[in-house]
Amino acid sequence: MAEKHVNYFALQKACENKGCPICRIIDERIDRYIDGMLFEHISDRTFRAQYREAGGFCSSHAKILLNYRDGLAVAILGQGTLDDYIHDFKKRKMRRYKQLCPACAEQQRIEKEFLTFIAEGHDDATSDQELREFFCKSDGLCVPHYSQLVKILGRKIPKWLSNFQEDKFSSLIERTKRFIDYSAWGKQKEFASLSEEDKVVWKELASILRGQIQ
Ligand SMILES: [Zn+2]
Ligand SMILES: [Zn+2]
Repeated sequence: MAEKHVNYFALQKACENKGCPICRIIDERIDRYIDGMLFEHISDRTFRAQYREAGGFCSSHAKILLNYRDGLAVAILGQGTLDDYIHDFKKRKMRRYKQLCPACAEQQRIEKEFLTFIAEGHDDATSDQELREFFCKSDGLCVPHYSQLVKILGRKIPKWLSNFQEDKFSSLIERTKRFIDYSAWGKQKEFASLSEEDKVVWKELASILRGQIQ
């Protein structure tokens, strides 16, 4: 229960911000995770083995290392990875990394935890109005996170949640269609009548399809 409590407040806070609440939570927690791994657990054998077997972080998580405050930690981790590459280069045979990037693995764990938290125990019959209310005031889940939720829950997604999300997506597609239509030659007048937001709806579309906070 204690954990749910923490998740509840983390979600509430994320919903008050712009963008997909799960993306925002991940953004914060992955930073913290990498920080913890590098700063405190660099001597942790399990983490180092996992890191080595994954061939390091994936490219998007490795980016965080470029500006990391502890150069020694980055050097120790990177040395092991480069050693393995040099070994393979000499043999002219590249190994296959079977492990997932440790930060991606952590990300998947957080995603699953929060997605099931939003849906479970907050179905249409339960009385937790508060969560529904603050969630429905948020920008909603991005497409990758909503599709993950559909994969996890299938038909068990609460109605309030599927209605909220799918209404958002339908309205976005309507606006996108209008944008495409008014972009046609000879429709400059119609295009000019679009709101400032609708004139750049393609940005909203690209970001909701991609997920992740910029
Ligand atoms: Zn998201
Ligand atoms: Zn990764």
